[in-house]
Amino acid sequence: MSFSDMPVEVGPVFEGERIRSKQMYVELGGPKIEKHFELVKVKPAKEIKDDEVILIGPDLGEMEEGSRYPIGILVEVAGKELEEDLEAVFERRIHEFCNFINGVMHLNQRYTNWMRVSKTAVEKGFNSFKQMGTILIRLFKAELPIIEKAQVTMITSAKEIDKYYEMAMDTYKKRDERALGLHDEDVDMFYGCVLCQSFAPTHACSITPDRTSLCGSINWFDARAAAKVDPKGPIYAVPPGECLNELAGEYSGLNEMTKKRSLGEVDRIYLYSGMEFPHTSCGCFEAIDFYIPEVNGHGIIDRNADVKAINGLAFSTMANQTGGGKQMPGFNGISLQYIASPKFQIYDAKQEGLDHGLKLIVWMNSELKERVKQFIPEDLQPKIATEQDVSDMSELREWLKEKEHPIVSTWGAEEEEEEEEWEEEGGAMIPMGTQTMTVPGVGGGGGFKIILKNCKVHAESLIIKKIDSSSKRKKK
Ligand code: SF4
Repeated sequence: MSFSDMPVEVGPVFEGERIRSKQMYVELGGPKIEKHFELVKVKPAKEIKDDEVILIGPDLGEMEEGSRYPIGILVEVAGKELEEDLEAVFERRIHEFCNFINGVMHLNQRYTNWMRVSKTAVEKGFNSFKQMGTILIRLFKAELPIIEKAQVTMITSAKEIDKYYEMAMDTYKKRDERALGLHDEDVDMFYGCVLCQSFAPTHACSITPDRTSLCGSINWFDARAAAKVDPKGPIYAVPPGECLNELAGEYSGLNEMTKKRSLGEVDRIYLYSGMEFPHTSCGCFEAIDFYIPEVNGHGIIDRNADVKAINGLAFSTMANQTGGGKQMPGFNGISLQYIASPKFQIYDAKQEGLDHGLKLIVWMNSELKERVKQFIPEDLQPKIATEQDVSDMSELREWLKEKEHPIVSTWGAEEEEEEEEWEEEGGAMIPMGTQTMTVPGVGGGGGFKIILKNCKVHAESLIIKKIDSSSKRKKK
């Protein structure tokens, strides 16, 4: 495979390249553009014109510098061994292959895809989507030899993208629905994925029926198909091993895989918890499940949200805190599909005496709530606040009380724990189940509360500094 006819270099060395807004020639897709997507479809060979790139809409060189445009990337492939289950896995490679191009930055997947092309690349002559499509076709055929024919359609016209976008959304929906009826205990094999390690070197996704990959684009069926055709590839089988904690979703096989693939950084994960040994988060997660200490509940904000979360943080700010391959209790990158699972953060819910993970959720951005409404128990739906209902923590607290949200039942116990905590000042060892402390000035709306569960705290001395004369802390 050669790219000597291309004006820019192409190769894995360019993965991870960042293009800041000042360096970009144009932005394609992303949160400020309504409709955009990328999709792979398996087709009969006779329906594909091999190596053909079709462009619908303005070409790269015709675009106004510094502007944003829609982007649809439809890759149609054919091959004797291809099956529909492989579509999602091929699709995820669009991210990787676009990032191989020097001067192109690609983020996310499906309908959240977001690209930037640099001014330098355009100045060098990379000024046509036909070049981009040709590079994609060559990489697909070279890296995945079971693809025998490939054709790419690129759509940049805001008018023309509608029908393709609807087709893409319909395909994603069908893929997700198929995965809904299957659960972790029904299968004897899990899968892992390290496609995001170019951005998050210590991140490895565990893909199980109940925990679709964080990016939302690879479910258990997709991963199974990928591992079958390329067992040594970036998506691979992981024998679950021993189930160490059924409620938490802790498996020895997943722990071993995570330890090996994170180069020893992370050696333990609970699939169904955002608070204890949570799954690591890369940067492509569809949404963030975040802890809200002021009400002992959780919020969820999705990547497309154009509002700040109830803790005063935008998705992008929280994503910096959450991603990069870290294991960050209280901030968990998730797929939307995971919200539909009965295992959703069930471990955390049970620790609070609740019987469903969604009963922890007290806030969602309104668009997300609408999108996942069908998965939320009917009686809980009106109890989960959005940005349209409350604007700060005290309003949220009042809302939850008024609506009799199940989380309110957890408050009494927590407040008693706080009293006990501060009364233990004189002791050197505080053997308590849960320790709580507030870090002021972070996260808006009163800061973070750090909760240490099942811990023993030993301190030779305890120094409490007054930091705010109007502080409302109970004791010092
Ligand atoms: S988020 Fe996970 S499953 Fe998706 S591409 Fe990245 S590593 Fe793979």
